Amino acid sequence: MTDPEARPTTTDAGVPVSSDEHSLSVGPDGPLLLQDHYLIEQMANFNRERIAERQPHAKGGGAFGTFEVTHDVSAFTRAAVFQPGATTDVLSRFSTVAGERGSPDTWRDPRGFSLRFYTDEGNFDMVGNNTPVFFMRDPMKFQHFIRSQKRRADNNLRDHDMQWDFWTLVPESAHQVTWLMGDRGIPRTWRHMNGYSSHTYMWINADRERFWVKYHFISDQGVEFFTQDEADQMASADTDYHQRDLFEHIAAEEFPSWTLKMQIMPFEDAKTYRFNPFDLTKVWPHGDYPLQDVGRLTLNRNVSDYHTEIEQAAFEPNNTVAGTGLSPDKMLLARGFSYSDAHRARLGSNYRQIPVNRPQSPVHSYTKDGHLRMDNVSDPVYAPNSYGGPSADPSLSDDGGRWEADGEMVRAAYTLHAEDDDWGQARTMVRDVLDDDARERLVQNIVGHLLNGVSEKVLTRAFEYWRNVDQALGDKVESGVRAKQDETDPKADAQGNPARSSMQDKA
Ligand code: NDP
Repeated sequence: MTDPEARPTTTDAGVPVSSDEHSLSVGPDGPLLLQDHYLIEQMANFNRERIAERQPHAKGGGAFGTFEVTHDVSAFTRAAVFQPGATTDVLSRFSTVAGERGSPDTWRDPRGFSLRFYTDEGNFDMVGNNTPVFFMRDPMKFQHFIRSQKRRADNNLRDHDMQWDFWTLVPESAHQVTWLMGDRGIPRTWRHMNGYSSHTYMWINADRERFWVKYHFISDQGVEFFTQDEADQMASADTDYHQRDLFEHIAAEEFPSWTLKMQIMPFEDAKTYRFNPFDLTKVWPHGDYPLQDVGRLTLNRNVSDYHTEIEQAAFEPNNTVAGTGLSPDKMLLARGFSYSDAHRARLGSNYRQIPVNRPQSPVHSYTKDGHLRMDNVSDPVYAPNSYGGPSADPSLSDDGGRWEADGEMVRAAYTLHAEDDDWGQARTMVRDVLDDDARERLVQNIVGHLLNGVSEKVLTRAFEYWRNVDQALGDKVESGVRAKQDETDPKADAQGNPARSSMQDKA
């Protein structure tokens, strides 16, 4: 009698195979045979196991969970996911930005904080970070910024000279670089960091009133960090420390959670607010727009197959649902295109049919065919039609948010608001938020980073960059670099100049 528990190995076509161990050969010592379909299937699949990694945010991990609404914000949004009592399934993914898929979790870098809410009204995604701001306000600069963080063309090495070259030529980066060089630039674990939408989004209530909003997921575990030394040690002891920490805590049923708090700005305030509220390099100070409680995100289920559930997870900020929308933040509007485009390039045009990307609500779309199509398409395949195909219901959509715009087509920076500049909010962080110890660690982190192969030309600009943030900070950075230059830069020559790269030689 056959064992009911037995699971005979089959090919991917479900046909039982005759051996898990031996290829088909002519005699035990003879040549292999081309008709060994099973061996060929194993080798061919193996050769295609790795898909292109994300560019950027390649290294990451995540988990499933739930989001529950704890406070009534129905006056601001009609989205079902934010109505009193609603509970929604969630997928999260946390990541570093610059490193490749095998890079250490504890390198200094912003962390991605992506969320998908599987709502009754379709997927609602937030592609956030653990920082409330970003390095630039115009998407034209993004690709160049990422290249400056990745590897050089000639020696295939990461290069602090090109990182600081870019940052110091782009003063709007100062707020985010200050944040990055501070304690929060290396979170202790993913559980111990906040998540921010960073971008300004829109909420729309049942009366179609509009509000500008920012999402803050505040860690219930508290915010904790690694010092540079601790992080360096962890990078060699456990490259995957953050991934392991999240997985093990969820496996032990110590579920991490975050409290969602919102900043909510009346629609009309945007025009006259002291900062441009759509500039991604700026926060809205809490004193102007206090945090309002909304709900709790809890991660309580580990993934069972990293590849299908995390590597193929395709978050996209243009997955908005009724009651939510985008804003005139230029970085956000560009991401609306670039995320879907990246997914099409990496996963194929039918990436939304991969199980982790499928909504829990019904899909009645008119997309059709293409590589790896899973869902049957039924007629009619066009709209409008008189054969019972789906038809759009405008009452169910807010079109991703709407606002008024007029003017010449230009290539120009945002209109300046009263207190807009590139340095002010970074200065507030240094002077008013950090205590003396945190300020000293900031100086040491910057000095250590600058001592790693940065050319004299770029160093000089870096000292001015930090003096623009705060004179005393810039002075300390310069004296710290000058004092340690000889002893800490292993590539320094006999005159104490940092090692020169071929790119610097060309300059
Ligand atoms: P507040 O004093 O009300 O807020 C300061 C906030 O800074 C804290 O609430 C905390 O944010 C965050 N913070 C604390 N320590 C650090 C650190 N070591 N590194 C980075 N952030 C830290 O002042 P404002 O709202 O007026 O903001 C002042 C400055 O604080 C801003 O210019 C900005 O640089 C920074 N900041 C502001 C945030 C905002 O949304 N307003 C958010 C984060 C930073 P949290 O509660 O989110 O942990």
